Amino acid sequence: MIKSEIRRSFQSAAQIIEQLLGPERLFVDPVTVETYAADETPQHCVPAGVVFPYSHEDVMNLVRVANEYKLPLVARGAGSGNVGGALPVPGALVVSFECMNRILEFDADNRVMVVQSGAITGEIDARARSRGLFYPPDPGSAAFCRIGGNIAMNAAGPHSLKYGVTRDYVLGLRAVAGDGKSLRTGCRTSKGVVGYDLTRLLVGSEGTLALVTEATLRLLPAPTTSATLQACYRNSADACAAVSRVMTQPVIPSVLEFLDGAALNAIREAGAVEDLSAEAGAMLIAEADGEPAEVARQLRALAAALRGPGLLQLKQADTPEAIAALWTARRSLSHAVKRLAPLKINEDVVVPVSRLAALVARVEALAKTYRLIIVAFGHAGNGNLHVNLMVHPDDLREMMRAQLCLRELFATVLALGGTLSGEHGIGSEKRQFVPLEIPGETLALMRAIKQQFDPNGILNPGKLFPDPL
Ligand SMILES: Cc1cc2nc3c(=O)[nH]c(=O)nc-3n(C[C@H](O)[C@H](O)[C@H](O)COP(=O)(O)OP(=O)(O)OC[C@H]3O[C@@H](n4cnc5c(N)ncnc54)[C@H](O)[C@@H]3O)c2cc1C
Repeated sequence: MIKSEIRRSFQSAAQIIEQLLGPERLFVDPVTVETYAADETPQHCVPAGVVFPYSHEDVMNLVRVANEYKLPLVARGAGSGNVGGALPVPGALVVSFECMNRILEFDADNRVMVVQSGAITGEIDARARSRGLFYPPDPGSAAFCRIGGNIAMNAAGPHSLKYGVTRDYVLGLRAVAGDGKSLRTGCRTSKGVVGYDLTRLLVGSEGTLALVTEATLRLLPAPTTSATLQACYRNSADACAAVSRVMTQPVIPSVLEFLDGAALNAIREAGAVEDLSAEAGAMLIAEADGEPAEVARQLRALAAALRGPGLLQLKQADTPEAIAALWTARRSLSHAVKRLAPLKINEDVVVPVSRLAALVARVEALAKTYRLIIVAFGHAGNGNLHVNLMVHPDDLREMMRAQLCLRELFATVLALGGTLSGEHGIGSEKRQFVPLEIPGETLALMRAIKQQFDPNGILNPGKLFPDPL
């Protein structure tokens, strides 16, 4: 279709959507469309319009009209994704779930909550905690990201080491497939094996198969106490050896975070932590949670495992204030790293935890080979390393070196038995790398599944899959 036809087609679809959903739901004014033109990536694409459904039925109507007019739909939660998942494509209608933000049911007796997909993750957790329960997945963006976005990306956070990821807490979904069919998946009981597990298929599908409208979530009793250990080491190799010791003894920490030497240098330069040892070349932060007596026992086991060659300092915190102080280094990192260069190419690769040391050593070697600032930190207990290439987008030679470095990083990760993304997903940013990990026949099956859910390819085109050859 030529541009004027696309515009006419959009206008016709928009008129019908306005009739079906009512006034003040679909916006095409320059300010609104500009507001929804980006996510956390540096990319930018102004959509043709933005629509705000209020209900599952609104979403069904929208998808049906979009199919008739072959109108691309891009679902959006808070737009906090960092791989371009919610980034519009030209001519797209952004479907913002902001107005579908209610907690529909809180069944504390059965530890279940039913929420609309625009509910804010942190608010779900806060509501659960009001009755002694909690919603364990804890992405760093929990204060503002939305559960539909978490479900689409299978989001995770530091506590996923002990408690698992979003997929482990979604019992069932209500959704609208790309062909407009209304879906109900899963159940609300802790056991259930009837039919194919479409819930697990939709979690992590990045808005390419269906638009999620409601989720039934599993909750857990909230731990009453937690305590934190911070260990500084001479270098990353010593810290990674400690990670192996921690992960091969019986106590699973609720958190085990790693910061490399470049991360500590960034924190020092930003002046964010006063008492950071000058010799420290790596840091681990471990946490135990549960009942007080249990936490004390876990801490003893974790401290014993953290002690070993290269340990410079081991601190323990038991009160909320002292715990917050030990986390300052990790919390200040994002801000500290931003000062190093205008652009952060942010990868979140994962390797089996016993191979973390090999990955970290390779990252240090890549930084030297390609003359790049690379800051690595992450969820060490899961083998999930955030590898941040700090670059200047105007320096084309440096950008070229960064691309070559990324290819080598991904090849290393796969050779170590790992995966390209642990929590950020693929979106538009990483889709060309997918064939490095997923064999051709498996990818073809995934494309066939996409075709079955979304025969006209209107849901989030240009995401997740590489362009066909
Ligand atoms: C400061 C910061 C910290 C972060 N920390 C973490 C972290 O610790 N762990 C982590 O995993 N991520 C993290 N992220 C990334 C991001 O917050 C997560 O990917 C989050 O899940 C995105 O939620 P969102 O509501 O912003 O979704 P969006 O960015 O709006 O969308 C993400 C994807 O979900 C799709 N989508 C959204 N809603 C729906 C729906 N209802 N139905 C179908 N598809 C939908 C979109 O199309 C898109 O593909 C962080 C981001 C920031 C800015």
